Amino acid sequence: FLAAMTGVASLSLSLSACGETSSSGDKTKGGTIGIAMPTQASERWLTDGKSVVKDLKGYGYQTQLVYGQDNPKTQVSQIQALIKQGVDALIIAAIDNKSLNGVLEEAAAAKIPVISYDRLILGTANVDYYVSFDNEQVGRLQALYIIDKLGLEDGKGPFNIEIFAGSPDDNNTQYFFEGAMHLLQPYLDNKQLIVQSGQTALKDVTTLRWDGPTARKRMNEVLADSYGSKKVDAVLSPYDGISIGVLNALKADGYGSNSKPLPVITGQDAELASIKSIIAGEQSQTVYKDVRQLASAAADMANDILTGKTPKVNNRLGYKNGVKAVSAYLLQPTSVDKSNYNYVLVAGGYYTAAELK
Ligand code: BGC
Repeated sequence: FLAAMTGVASLSLSLSACGETSSSGDKTKGGTIGIAMPTQASERWLTDGKSVVKDLKGYGYQTQLVYGQDNPKTQVSQIQALIKQGVDALIIAAIDNKSLNGVLEEAAAAKIPVISYDRLILGTANVDYYVSFDNEQVGRLQALYIIDKLGLEDGKGPFNIEIFAGSPDDNNTQYFFEGAMHLLQPYLDNKQLIVQSGQTALKDVTTLRWDGPTARKRMNEVLADSYGSKKVDAVLSPYDGISIGVLNALKADGYGSNSKPLPVITGQDAELASIKSIIAGEQSQTVYKDVRQLASAAADMANDILTGKTPKVNNRLGYKNGVKAVSAYLLQPTSVDKSNYNYVLVAGGYYTAAELK
């Protein structure tokens, strides 16, 4: 991947000031597809980028892959540069779902089709298709794990839980949160679950840019302000990077011993550090999304659009983006913990056994 990034062509001159870029492909066939990804700081997006490039090359397209370093302005300039360069289609995983309206007007004027990748772009008619996972199901799987591990259906409790959510500017955040809270709410209502911090509204529990250290800081504050001699029994965490941040705060507070075991803690993305943490008995669960399948669905979609076929969708009513309902193709996520990581991730070819050592 790094080798590909150093082999950048002319576009890198215009883009180097605003982030990383890599270009590849057989220049004699097909068109060029611009791929704008949010960040290189989380593994999953590296896999997404690599896989989309590989699948599009398989169809004979050239690709321009850019990463916006979690900075919305950087992403806007990168997409502007791709439009200027004359790409034939854009595949975009937005950093800030509302910051792209202006630049997508430029794309529409240049008749460049836009596929919203993983995260729905809001507030614009200039997005043609959406490809993602069933995002509410991600939240449900996290909640169901907590319900099961605490034995809430058997009437056990009361237990203390703290709630974390993702970045407020990512449309997926509310879907993960609502999917989970819908299932947890009855247990909050009947007091089998208690949130000692009192922070349960989405606006109080978001984590800007999904940042682990930000989550760690909030967990530190919650422990200091609301726990004293009480113990946290579960943490709803929407993403592995946040789970690791929360675990660091808990461990620094003495959790992880026989007398003070770590709480049940969820996650998302099956990132390597979290799978290792699950194997070590720290993080409890993660929600695995095979982003290789997501990439391949996006590449199929782009190829269908560019060859005049109707892309395959399985959510015809679409995902509402404030201006229109965007036709979507949604994949299914899988809950992973110590009991099935080997089967799902190693046998499934996502990681080798050696990588998990
Ligand atoms: C993605 C998640 C990811 C998060 C942070 C979300 O939009 O759907 O898979 O954990 O962003 O990168």
